[in-house]
Amino acid sequence: MSDRFLIIGNGVAGITAAFTLRQRHPRAQISVISGESDYFISRTALMYAYMDQLDLRDLEPFERKAYDRQNIQRLRAWVTGLDATRQIVTLDNGLELPYDGLLLATGSVPNRAPWAGVDAVREGLVHFVSLQHLAECERLTPTTRRAAVVGGGLIGVELVECLLHHGVEVDFLVRDAWYWPMALAREEGELIANRIRHHGVHLHLEHEVTSVAADAQGRIASITTNQGTTLPCQMLGVAIGVRPGVDWLRQVATPPELGRGIRVNAQFQTSLPHVYAAGDCAEFTRPDGSAQVEQIWYSAKRQGEAAARAMLGDAVQYQPPLFFNSAKFFDIEYTTVGDVTRLPATATSLFCQFPGPAASLRIIENQGAVIGFNALGTRWNHNVFETWIQQRKSLPDIVSHLRDAQFDVEFGRAPLAPVTAAFAAWQQQVQA
Ligand SMILES: Cc1cc2nc3c(=O)[nH]c(=O)nc-3n(C[C@H](O)[C@H](O)[C@H](O)COP(=O)(O)OP(=O)(O)OC[C@H]3O[C@@H](n4cnc5c(N)ncnc54)[C@H](O)[C@@H]3O)c2cc1C
Repeated sequence: MSDRFLIIGNGVAGITAAFTLRQRHPRAQISVISGESDYFISRTALMYAYMDQLDLRDLEPFERKAYDRQNIQRLRAWVTGLDATRQIVTLDNGLELPYDGLLLATGSVPNRAPWAGVDAVREGLVHFVSLQHLAECERLTPTTRRAAVVGGGLIGVELVECLLHHGVEVDFLVRDAWYWPMALAREEGELIANRIRHHGVHLHLEHEVTSVAADAQGRIASITTNQGTTLPCQMLGVAIGVRPGVDWLRQVATPPELGRGIRVNAQFQTSLPHVYAAGDCAEFTRPDGSAQVEQIWYSAKRQGEAAARAMLGDAVQYQPPLFFNSAKFFDIEYTTVGDVTRLPATATSLFCQFPGPAASLRIIENQGAVIGFNALGTRWNHNVFETWIQQRKSLPDIVSHLRDAQFDVEFGRAPLAPVTAAFAAWQQQVQA
């Protein structure tokens, strides 16, 4: 491949790809295009900017001069066209840019509110994914006494925490029977729900919005739920999931093959020649034929690096890594490694709670080998957990070495007596 590389999207996937290309190819022309921002930002830290704990500039992981030093050209524009036969993309200002290799790293966009009455709302309905969303949230907050946030994933709970920080009263609507069943079992979901309520949030489980209403000026005024409740609000946070940012590709001259995301093979190649995709927008096919879209930071970074290597001709064979994520629900830290939900019928789990507001550990095993860990409110070294899963360690073995996975942190290590007690109960359960 010759040396004009174009990357659409300056998120962690796109920027990691750009720096990887530069490391390996000192003379290549590398351009990164983004409609959102001039510089790469850490999206996971958006909430700290909203809570005034970080300046916007602090969201930028790299010094601004790094891009010039690395000779990476930055372009601020939305890409609206792609013609793979001419190997050209078109920007919203009409500019046409030729490429030899193109990486689509366009991330995710929030799902739109589907409720009756939404079309009449001209103000007050917010998402929390981009810098533009952050600006809109910040603009509306001073005139908001009460807000509703819909959708119980990580983005929803972060938005709730930010609003609360600014003294806004918040109704938090989650459609499931417990908090975040996609990632947490009932026990952990209930621990987090209690903690959310402890902070003064009105958490409504098994509530869905059916319609919304605006005031005479078009600002959101209330929502009505499937339980018949009407809740007043001046802001409505819509956090009902994200989807790959591929809508624009449906209109271009030569769209790549699309499913939920941009379909790629294990070398990150799309159906178009010289066009690759990585990060939240890329869709892989699992061995069983199902689609896999990984919408997490660490995967996007890893994919950006591997996609760049593939664009340079390396023999890349991407395999989704063992799932790992860490986050915070208010003051409760959360670490998850491996398989913890949608488990095989033969899986069993050891669950224990530690002293503290919401501190727990779940270890999941299947047919003699541990396959997943889910920890709340306690600190563990996820690398050790990963190694244990890869080595197919047994549950008894892991329980006896659990201390090796604990960090020595300022709060001290969680006492392991609850694990020993839970292990005894687990042994009885599997022997019964
Ligand atoms: C509030 C929030 C909290 C999160 N917390 C966590 C967390 O705790 N842990 C975790 O693992 N993940 C978290 N995530 C998810 C994580 O941020 C994403 O997985 C990651 O940022 C994806 O990186 P990416 O490079 O694929 O895409 P993105 O970071 O989305 O970057 C894509 C860029 O491409 C631009 N773009 C899209 N289309 C075009 C176009 N046509 N023309 C020009 N530019 C375009 C977009 O505007 C965007 O700037 C969080 C996400 C959010 C929103």
